[in-house]
Amino acid sequence: MRRLLTLLIVLGALVAGGYLLLQLLNLTGRNDSRAGEMLRWARGDADDRAALITVQREPCPGAPFLLPSDGYVGLLYADPRGPYSAVAPHQGIDIFSPGAPGVTPVYAAYDGYITREAGWRSALIQRIPDDPLRPGRSIWLYYAHMADRDGASFIEPAFPPGTRERFVARGTLLGYTGDYNGNSLRDIWVHLHFSIVLDDGRGGYANELEFANTLDPTPYLGMPLNYRCDSPAVQCDPQPACDSG
Ligand SMILES: [Zn+2]
Repeated sequence: MRRLLTLLIVLGALVAGGYLLLQLLNLTGRNDSRAGEMLRWARGDADDRAALITVQREPCPGAPFLLPSDGYVGLLYADPRGPYSAVAPHQGIDIFSPGAPGVTPVYAAYDGYITREAGWRSALIQRIPDDPLRPGRSIWLYYAHMADRDGASFIEPAFPPGTRERFVARGTLLGYTGDYNGNSLRDIWVHLHFSIVLDDGRGGYANELEFANTLDPTPYLGMPLNYRCDSPAVQCDPQPACDSG
């Protein structure tokens, strides 16, 4: 019994050590430039930050969606960096805002129908009845963190809690970015989390927190938004060098 316990402890230590090593490789390997960018965003002055910001108020040529907010697209789709991991990577993109909470606008990426669940302080979800890249299926666009740290909402008054199926056209103002993080004490930077969520087949959306329920936004925005793209800058690119999926 004691031997088994020792074996389990040793195994546990090996797994934990391996995980740490992988995280370190993530930070120091091919993504060195990305780690550097993050630091520049965190510590840089206004000029440093300006160099990282993507502004794309119209859809990229040939793409259906527009980038819903201006900012530094710092955490990408399928990104394994903290607080995410290789087994539970990032389900969408995080667009970090240059300004204070409640300042940077968030716009609808496409035409569709807004729902805001009764308990949602910072988030909206938008039903797109006909996926422009795969006609015939519905998809959903999830926009989150539109509230301040205490949960005071920055969502436009047109979308109060309990909103169902309110149509908005692409480019409609939905609210402003914030740093709300639920009840978590973890400090987050002011940003918009944006993701494309699959339909549950019963007229609702699948769990937006599960990576498997989300789609790579790269082809929808015509930008290299997948972590695998390994692209230095996020801007329009009709054929980003990465596999979608
Ligand atoms: Zn996110």
